[in-house]
Amino acid sequence: MTFSWYSCQKGLPVRTIYIHIPFCEGHCLFCGFYQNAYRSDLARQYTDVLVHEMELSCKAPFIDAGPFQAVYFGGRTPTALPAKSLTRLVSTVKNLFPLSNDCEITLEGRIHNFTKEKIKAALNAGVNCFSLGVQSFDTRIRKRLGRRDPRKKVIESLTYLRDLGKASAIIDLIYGLPGQSLHIWEEDIKTFVSLEIDGCDLYQLNVFRGGLLEKSVAKGSLPRPAILKEQADYYVRGVELMEAAHYRRLSISHWARTSRERSLYNLFSRGRSDCVPLGSGAGGWLGNYFFFVEGDLKDYLSAIEAGRKPLAFGMRRSQRDFLFRDISYQMELGYCDLEQLSKRHDFDLLTILRPIISQWEKAGLVKLTDGCLYLTRSGEFWMVNLAQMLIDCLQKNQ
Ligand code: SF4
Repeated sequence: MTFSWYSCQKGLPVRTIYIHIPFCEGHCLFCGFYQNAYRSDLARQYTDVLVHEMELSCKAPFIDAGPFQAVYFGGRTPTALPAKSLTRLVSTVKNLFPLSNDCEITLEGRIHNFTKEKIKAALNAGVNCFSLGVQSFDTRIRKRLGRRDPRKKVIESLTYLRDLGKASAIIDLIYGLPGQSLHIWEEDIKTFVSLEIDGCDLYQLNVFRGGLLEKSVAKGSLPRPAILKEQADYYVRGVELMEAAHYRRLSISHWARTSRERSLYNLFSRGRSDCVPLGSGAGGWLGNYFFFVEGDLKDYLSAIEAGRKPLAFGMRRSQRDFLFRDISYQMELGYCDLEQLSKRHDFDLLTILRPIISQWEKAGLVKLTDGCLYLTRSGEFWMVNLAQMLIDCLQKNQ
């Protein structure tokens, strides 16, 4: 596998880097992605090792084959890292990898413990986009879910970021949370709009089987989350409010107020792009291979300390992978141009998909015009399921 990593040649023209920070300062009840508890000694060690991984990884020949257009510090909570670590990691990636002049460098995280010192360190190092999980501004709902800061503190922090004016600030909001009435959801969006920050993702709550949220509801310590029908109503109301505020839609879930917000990494990662994965638990496509970096923190740390890039597994791209990525990408944007994709991939999609599309048209989920499928508002709500059904149907008939 290491051979494949170092033997990967120039791949796609769109190139990104994903850097995973696998710690959280607490386990939010709704989250199914919690990995490791944050510890300051571990964070310092992780920073050292991650820098070493960058030094090992940048020796692969494909690294210098072209510029990277987006770098994403994501995972669990990159903003939990100390200011010095943030400076060091951002500076190292800038020094070791060729970045485009307009490269988007995003730092993901949360408001809690994202101090002014850390914000300044990140900005001075070159971060130009902050993506922060807010989920709801409602203090009661936040506390129930394990989010520590009250509404007032969240608003103060976002206002501070906005007034600095040095990077775009975007947030995530979730609809369907336990105890979140339609009125509270409307207030969440109105608060976001009033803050005049750069953008926002509106996500549907996903209740993970066996997760903390499901258990808390079963025990009666949390009210039930919204059922699907209610979520659909929340979705529609969210879109209405964003449209009324004249926000630009960059994808089904992502809205931008300013042209500074580009959402490059998120859009690229869904389409045709290469991605260099760095950090324990990171994954990405490079050329014809998908690489996944060791997710077990202990194994990851010891492998890098021994001078080896710890790839847990790699797999070859399937024959139709580019077609399926094109479908997922276009559906994220609210359409799927079946005629165009049929020509591009030399595969008659319309004939295979016509029966399923007829059913969806009758159900009011899509409209087919000149060989292009357009999602209706109801179809947008079901977009992830519809995209997967298209892919499943094609896989069965290829
Ligand atoms: S929501 Fe974010 S901070 Fe909370 S547990 Fe999940 S990854 Fe960690």
